Amino acid sequence: FLAGRSALVTGSTSGIGLAVAEALAAAGASVVINGLGSAEQIEQAKAQVSQAGAPTVAFCAADLRDVSAIESMMTEHAGIDILINSAGVQFTAAFADMPAERWDSIIAINLSAAFHTMRLALPNMAERGFGRVVNIASVHGLVASVQKAPYVASKFGLVGMSKVAALEYAAAGSRESGGVTVNCVCPGWVETPLIEPQIQARAAQHGGSREEGVRDLVREKQPSQRMSSTADIAALCLFLCRREAHNMTGAALPVDGGWTSQ
Ligand code: NAD
Repeated sequence: FLAGRSALVTGSTSGIGLAVAEALAAAGASVVINGLGSAEQIEQAKAQVSQAGAPTVAFCAADLRDVSAIESMMTEHAGIDILINSAGVQFTAAFADMPAERWDSIIAINLSAAFHTMRLALPNMAERGFGRVVNIASVHGLVASVQKAPYVASKFGLVGMSKVAALEYAAAGSRESGGVTVNCVCPGWVETPLIEPQIQARAAQHGGSREEGVRDLVREKQPSQRMSSTADIAALCLFLCRREAHNMTGAALPVDGGWTSQ
């Protein structure tokens, strides 16, 4: 259902972003991937998205801490119908131990970059009467946890900012054209490299068993007791891109095994 559409997915050299890029490709979209990583990792990501069925796959190396790099990326790909902001970083430390530069980089990548991609993409989407923005926020855009001040601040900011954009573009397009929507997906634990340091820290408390580390993490906050896969998150993002989702906008959708229901 995405034949003829094009999508840009930030942070798609790994994890959730890569799975979303593959899902969009499998639905027929042309895909621009973006993110950091070795040449080999980037080639691998491009190959996976291509094999998933994308008619074209491009890679943009923009480092999202650099506003002018984001501007160049968005100028080069001004015609995108779908924008997925998935790039994100995490660093855990208590308030007093949080390095000031971590605050700056987490806010820049997790929040400010999405502001810049959205402000540059949304006017073009409105002109065409169709557009989809899906921001990968987190349960930490809805509730807090200790040792995550910059991350929680960035994700609450992302949820709030997305609601503003949803309101400003709510009346763009029509039911037939699909409209312009802006939503957040709010995962609990998803097994990706992002959470590996947290898994390893828990594993160390359990004699080095990674499996026990994972169990310990989900036991604490995620009542389903199981992590999501990246493909689970991608399936919801794909649904939000459907024409039928034209009236779903401004939502922050938890995929958290009940975490935020407690
Ligand atoms: P990941 O580490 O697998 O992927 C992160 C991606 O962001 C990579 O492609 C990386 O290259 C890219 N990135 C990082 N810094 C960048 C920069 N300066 N410029 C450009 N790209 C950059 O992590 P993930 O788990 O797939 O995370 C994706 C999103 O999902 C993040 O926003 C994260 O906060 C969110 N999230 C993850 C979980 C989880 O449990 N894994 C839970 C909730 C939300």
